[in-house]
Amino acid sequence: MTTFSHYRGRFAPTPSGPLHFGSLVAALGSYLDARAVGGQWLVRIEDIDPPRCPPGTDTTILRQLEAFGLHWDGPIVWQSARSDAYQAALERLRQQGLSYPCSCSRKQWQTHPIYPGWCRDGLREPGKPIAWRLRTDLGQRPIIWPDRLLGAQRFDPADLGDVVLKRKDGLWAYQLAVVVDDADQHISDIVRGVDLLDNTPWQMQLQGALGYPVPRYLHLPLVMSPDGQKLSKQNLAPALASEPVAIARQLFQAIETLDQAPPVELKGAAPAEQLAWAVAHWRVERIAPARERPAPDAYQEER
Ligand code: GLU
Repeated sequence: MTTFSHYRGRFAPTPSGPLHFGSLVAALGSYLDARAVGGQWLVRIEDIDPPRCPPGTDTTILRQLEAFGLHWDGPIVWQSARSDAYQAALERLRQQGLSYPCSCSRKQWQTHPIYPGWCRDGLREPGKPIAWRLRTDLGQRPIIWPDRLLGAQRFDPADLGDVVLKRKDGLWAYQLAVVVDDADQHISDIVRGVDLLDNTPWQMQLQGALGYPVPRYLHLPLVMSPDGQKLSKQNLAPALASEPVAIARQLFQAIETLDQAPPVELKGAAPAEQLAWAVAHWRVERIAPARERPAPDAYQEER
């Protein structure tokens, strides 16, 4: 595994809605992990799916990060401007026989648990719109890595299926975009929610195929709503607080959610002060590896 000489982390939100408490925990975890070792922390806006990203949401997210004191390094990258890089990567995969066009619709293979690879050896229905898929059976497998929180992980990407890299509507898929951008931005450490754990094997297979270095991974517990669902924009998690007293309270709760045991005196302190404490005291080993965390009580009050 390639080692990086400098720590460089990132927070990579999809601007489909404002940040909520769950995204704050992910942003904070990656920020603290970077700053605790004097590393850089970048922000990348993952706006590859314009119909899902209302205009202006990227700006809302950046203002939210600033309000919580989460200041980033360097220029922000917008995935919507990176099409050429993704196309070049797809072309390299195609030349190696690791990606292929696919005309199948989901409906056609809906009785199968994963896409059965029907177009691997040629389009089933030439002339129909095509997506591009990854040939998971030919790449590196199994994929094994030591997650910094969850320990040894082992997956066979072929069991997960030939994931789409470019959609039929011409939009880029997350799996390819994230790998190309993390490599181009020299990201050494990926800290994100455990909901993306089973995406990592595809991403690592792609890194291998494209000759990219493999970053370290740390998958954080997910914050669950009182009704037992992952906090997400889809299930209408409320946006983060926007006034100072509530911001201070939510930031404290996010530090607590990451099991960093902040002292009560810190409650209500300005974000800069809370973050300075949390950076100085950040310990990944404190995070209980349980995959789920309840949302704090105040979150329920604010619903
Ligand atoms: N854009 C993804 C999301 O908002 C995160 C991608 C990542 O951290 O790899 O869920």
